[in-house]
Amino acid sequence: MTLPQNPTRTTRDYQALDAAHHIHAFVDQKALNAEGPRVMVRGEGLHLWDNEGKRYLDGMSGLWCTNLGYGRKDLAAAATRQLERLPYYNMFFHTTHPAVVELSELLFSLLPSHYSHAIYTNSGSEANEVLIRTVRRYWQILGKPQKKVMIGRWNGYHGSTLGSTALGGMGFMHEMGGMLPDFAHIGEPYWYVQGGELTEEEFGLKAARELEAKILELGADKVAAFVAEPFQGAGGMIFPPASYWAEVQRICRQYDVLLCADEVIGGFGRTGEWFAHQHFGFEPDTLTIAKGLTSGYIPMGGLVLSKRMAEVLVEQGGVFAHGLTYSGHPVAAAVAIANIKALRDEGVVNQVKNDSGPYLQQCLRQVFEGHPLVGEIQGTGLVAALQLCEDKPSRKRFANETDITWRCRTIGFEEGLIIRATGGRMIMAPALVATRGDIDELVSKTKLALDRTAQEFG
Ligand code: PLP
Repeated sequence: MTLPQNPTRTTRDYQALDAAHHIHAFVDQKALNAEGPRVMVRGEGLHLWDNEGKRYLDGMSGLWCTNLGYGRKDLAAAATRQLERLPYYNMFFHTTHPAVVELSELLFSLLPSHYSHAIYTNSGSEANEVLIRTVRRYWQILGKPQKKVMIGRWNGYHGSTLGSTALGGMGFMHEMGGMLPDFAHIGEPYWYVQGGELTEEEFGLKAARELEAKILELGADKVAAFVAEPFQGAGGMIFPPASYWAEVQRICRQYDVLLCADEVIGGFGRTGEWFAHQHFGFEPDTLTIAKGLTSGYIPMGGLVLSKRMAEVLVEQGGVFAHGLTYSGHPVAAAVAIANIKALRDEGVVNQVKNDSGPYLQQCLRQVFEGHPLVGEIQGTGLVAALQLCEDKPSRKRFANETDITWRCRTIGFEEGLIIRATGGRMIMAPALVATRGDIDELVSKTKLALDRTAQEFG
């Protein structure tokens, strides 16, 4: 039993103050105020404790970000050291500092050699804003300013700022004032729901060729870039068929369209490779990074550029009128360095590739292949999705699948488990330091939640 963080305040006190002053993310605030949010007070490894002392297994690494798990004293110490030495300086005025320089050195020692430069931000959304401006600037320098349409995918998620919302393909976000000119979208490679009679291989090619059709419809001279997550995260943890990425790469090269991978979720070891595009075997021109860069201990994101793009921007571009007060923040950079070194030197990424990842995938298949609610299990490394369905042979989905998955998520919380519901899928992405014991707990609690859900909806 964990003591409340502040014994003079009860959970009800926190909830009342929160309701009085705070607007939360992606929620009907009035409904949340009536219910009262959980008040989390402590984390250790994969576990969280709320203010009532209830313990949860966090099967989502917070929001896919606490790759090293909670409670790492080395990350706290790195932040403290940097706060004491140089808590802030900026990247304006022809200045730099050791923390950001050493972060870049470390980052590019991990990345394939065709990447050379990064622009740092505070979040994934910001990094995608930087992407939009950088891509447009790149084509402008090359004398093709008309090449500015960014193509994303329906149901893709790239953040909540204006540009990143337009780039994303969440229709309900577009409807709330989130669409802009010069953005277009193609379908997602969601074989289970959209594949019909096609094999996964055939569907992967078909989904990729939607990009070709869209480029031809808009005119290749107008299209700047295609942007997508290597596997789609918030839009349902969808893993594209094996044929998909090679075809997308071919199309981008043929039509001189930049290929931009949003690695905000997939980066820093999630799939067992340092970056998810390496798992899927393609070569993007840019990488958007955030979350696992600092294991979420402090906000930081960035845009990684290929040598080809960086050379144009640096050698031919002159001044790029762009900058953020906290770009390359020394404390965030110091935490990112400590985080990346721990992921590397403690063999965490290798462990995901060779042990914990295959173990999770194998356990999920053993436990859920015959489950009455589960139609498909997708995943690799420490990221996975359970697709719910009403009829397995025809892949027929439940008409009320959102009610079912949301109920399953709520039951999970009751059972001390945090997993996420997206449309018709239950998704999980535990911290990369998960032990086999943590994975056993994750899988058994998920089974409990799905069994209780099946009983309620059976
Ligand atoms: N890109 C992807 C793929 C994401 O999943 C997210 C957030 O979940 C973002 C971008 C936005 O990142 P942030 O919430 O740090 O702004």
